[in-house]
Amino acid sequence: MIVTGGSRGIGAATARLGAKAGYAVVVNYAANREAADAVVAEIERAGGQAVAVRADVGVEAEVAALFEAADRLGRLAVLVNNAGIVDAVAPVAGMSAERLTRIFAVNVVGSFLCAREAVKRMSTKRGGAGGAIVNLSSAAAKLGAGGSRVDYAATKGAIDTFTVGLAKEVAEEGISVTAVRPGIIETDIHASGGEPGRVAEIAASLPLRRAGTPEEVARAILFLASNEASYSTGAILDVSGARAILP
Ligand code: NAP
Repeated sequence: MIVTGGSRGIGAATARLGAKAGYAVVVNYAANREAADAVVAEIERAGGQAVAVRADVGVEAEVAALFEAADRLGRLAVLVNNAGIVDAVAPVAGMSAERLTRIFAVNVVGSFLCAREAVKRMSTKRGGAGGAIVNLSSAAAKLGAGGSRVDYAATKGAIDTFTVGLAKEVAEEGISVTAVRPGIIETDIHASGGEPGRVAEIAASLPLRRAGTPEEVARAILFLASNEASYSTGAILDVSGARAILP
């Protein structure tokens, strides 16, 4: 199992749970080697198998190297397209081309590139044994994030469409493609976007009066990646504590 952005947050929880389920896990990270090594050490202490691999998913050559490293662990069964970034709160009128290019490169192009490499390895039409791809969308895809981060929300809207389209494209190749749409989850991503207090500020206004945990999202990801979800390809599962349920 490859978990992009597996060093922290939802990705780290998914890597731990994946290892517990018996997968040898590639814990991908972009910069924080210490965090990735800590996840690997924790998995190994629990008797699992994992390896940390640095690669920026927005850079094609690094994605190729990530998958080559994964090939050394055995047959690829699951890709979790989890790596994602946010930028500071800004109106669309204040967004530079540089900002937009970077967020789409990581959140959208990165997911396409990783899925491309996964499909090449998993497709039964190419000699593979099938597999599962789980993408990380966001409740923001439905809410739009107007007034804060429309760019981020739009990358996640693209992930929803990508999920449905790729699911149809590879349905006959033994590959399931699904996504989860988390709501507000307790991770570092809020601090990365310049809002370290966001979870605390918003928690009481959420339907469940609390944010979600990375483990709650990881459980949904592992379910969608498993055979328990054998007829769910194309599905996008809200894990938002009812935050983004539209009528
Ligand atoms: P996080 O705590 O900020 O962790 C991000 C992870 O992605 C880190 O492991 C980071 O690696 C890695 N990463 C960042 N840029 C990368 C790149 N270019 N290439 C490879 N890895 C990269 O994030 P999170 O909150 O767990 O979010 C995970 C996913 O869930 C994202 O797609 C996010 O959009 C989505 N999501 C999160 C929430 C939420 O409330 N937390 C809600 C909805 C959706 P380093 O450690 O090396 O920096």
